[in-house]
Amino acid sequence: MDFQLSEEQRMIRETARSFVDKEVIPHVKSWEEKGEIPRSVTDRVAELGFFGMPIPEEYGGAGMDYVSFALVVEEIARGCNSLRTTLSVQTSLVATTLLAFGNEEQKRKYLTPIAQGKKLGAWALTEPDAGSDAANQRTAAVREGREWVLNGSKRFISNGNVADYVIVFARLPKTEGHEGICAFLVEKGTSGFSAPHVETNTKLGLRASPTADLAFDDCRISVENIVGQEGQGWEIAMYVLNHGRLGVAAGAVGIGQACLEASIEHARERKAFGRPIGSFQLIQEMIAEMAVDVEAARLLYLKAAWLRDQNVDNTLAVSVAKLFGAQMAVRSADRAVQVHGGYGFSGDYPVERHFRDAKILGIYEGTNEIQKLIIAREVIGELRRSEA
Ligand SMILES: Cc1cc2nc3c(=O)[nH]c(=O)nc-3n(C[C@H](O)[C@H](O)[C@H](O)COP(=O)(O)OP(=O)(O)OC[C@H]3O[C@@H](n4cnc5c(N)ncnc54)[C@H](O)[C@@H]3O)c2cc1C
Repeated sequence: MDFQLSEEQRMIRETARSFVDKEVIPHVKSWEEKGEIPRSVTDRVAELGFFGMPIPEEYGGAGMDYVSFALVVEEIARGCNSLRTTLSVQTSLVATTLLAFGNEEQKRKYLTPIAQGKKLGAWALTEPDAGSDAANQRTAAVREGREWVLNGSKRFISNGNVADYVIVFARLPKTEGHEGICAFLVEKGTSGFSAPHVETNTKLGLRASPTADLAFDDCRISVENIVGQEGQGWEIAMYVLNHGRLGVAAGAVGIGQACLEASIEHARERKAFGRPIGSFQLIQEMIAEMAVDVEAARLLYLKAAWLRDQNVDNTLAVSVAKLFGAQMAVRSADRAVQVHGGYGFSGDYPVERHFRDAKILGIYEGTNEIQKLIIAREVIGELRRSEA
């Protein structure tokens, strides 16, 4: 077992760290106020090659390993979880869908600009009545000649209103449950496709990330725009979410690390009763607990990423890393606010934002409860296999 990162992995992490310190952290507050991340910033992420990191070079990516990608995701989240969400949606959800299930033409036409960051993507599975119960898709897909006609709505879609390409899940007529779901690619500007409601900086966290409701009213797309086979949508969604959850797990560690660093700095500088508060054992305890939590969550996501790089099924490892990471980020943000006292509650200190941003990690790409169900299914399955 080797816990050393390679020279290349250390370098890419340093590049991301320096980008975040200089070009992200100083601006996050203004992005949140505007409710968006400027396109110049995503262009810079593209220039650094982060959007296409694990995508093969022939499709505009960097052909790098998932450990490297996850390290970059952690760094971006240390600065801004909204920007991390954009990176995750673009790479782990949209690019993965096209890489694993798109045909050659779709890879050239859509995956390449997504991996290069020239186009932005969104991934629309959730509906008003299909969140955790994602198989309860109601958006309808009917084939008419050389076209698919989509009717229905999607809820809470990150970047859904700004994306150039949206992967949309919809159901074939007379099908139910996991059967008959398909994935489609819809381009921005397609007639019948709109974003009637967008929530930005009024939500609890992720205030620089637009969250859109999408509407499809007789939205006609070419038959060419189905991704994968008819009825393969459920398989696609589950495969892709497994990739996405690795990004959420790594992102959680970024938030935890930011909370830890801010708390250490504050504990050194802030004085009470004539001494730095870091000299009080109850403050030290909170910092020690954070340090243990962050390190444990980091090892969990690195294991999940490493398994992915070995082409080994990492379903269990990813769900463990996401669940523990999401819970750890909420715990760490809570402790960080406590270490900061009233300053932690003030919008002038970043820990206030981390506290708000941490909560989403246990909700999207499968809630904490859904991760527990997956973990239980996997470990009980393991138990059964070892008994056999
Ligand atoms: C900011 C934001 C961004 C998002 N971005 C995207 C996106 O880009 N694309 C996308 O498709 N979706 C996105 N989502 C949607 C997100 O994935 C869903 O909100 C999530 O899956 C939960 O679904 P729900 O909100 O319908 O909650 P529900 O499914 O209604 O869950 C409510 C509660 O019930 C629990 N619960 C449900 N079923 C069970 C069960 N069987 N056992 C135990 N407990 C259960 C849940 O864990 C939760 O605590 C986003 C959401 C938000 C808030």
